[in-house]
Amino acid sequence: MSVRDFTIDGVEMGLGFTYGPNGYRRAVLIYIDGGSGADWMDKKNPELLNAINRIYELRHITEAWDCMEHFETHTLHGAGWASLQRDYNYKSLNEFNQKSMLVLNHQDSCDAHRKVAQTIQDVLYGNYQPPPKPEKSREEKERSEFLRKKPALRLKLVIRDGYQCDACGKDKEGSLCVVKKDGSSSSLQVANLALRCRSCMIKARNKAKK
Ligand SMILES: [Zn+2]
Repeated sequence: MSVRDFTIDGVEMGLGFTYGPNGYRRAVLIYIDGGSGADWMDKKNPELLNAINRIYELRHITEAWDCMEHFETHTLHGAGWASLQRDYNYKSLNEFNQKSMLVLNHQDSCDAHRKVAQTIQDVLYGNYQPPPKPEKSREEKERSEFLRKKPALRLKLVIRDGYQCDACGKDKEGSLCVVKKDGSSSSLQVANLALRCRSCMIKARNKAKK
């Protein structure tokens, strides 16, 4: 994050941050891009000192922009907006509140930073609507329905067939798998299902691969 706000005699000046190897901010720096900045420093050029002062005054908004820039990756660690109130104490939330207000009220804030700032406000004041979850595919829906109904189906099969593998007849295993006899993914009718032991499952799977 950097601000280039002043140009004196063709020399650009701005405010930036330096980062350590772990990605955490180490220092705020005022940089002078090109030209004879050192000469100006030596002569205490009043224009330069004035520009430095004005840039220094921008430090709060610059830090707030920087915070918005990395908010979802650094602050939320990619864990989503729900983690904001879960993982931060009042002091931090108060700081996020102030920074996001600064960003929303500053005319030079960019759209991306405004969007993050507005989301912080929405979360803090309970107005946040999480984005709708992506629609599941038909296969995913059927799979999750099968997983959900499995324990009940297993019980029905035990009642119907007794506790044994439908292929080899063994009844020694702690938990027999519920399998679809015709290999279709959709039908959850008990008529189409059977109990099978693990080794018969593996055999059938290897056979299907060949
Ligand atoms: Zn078996």
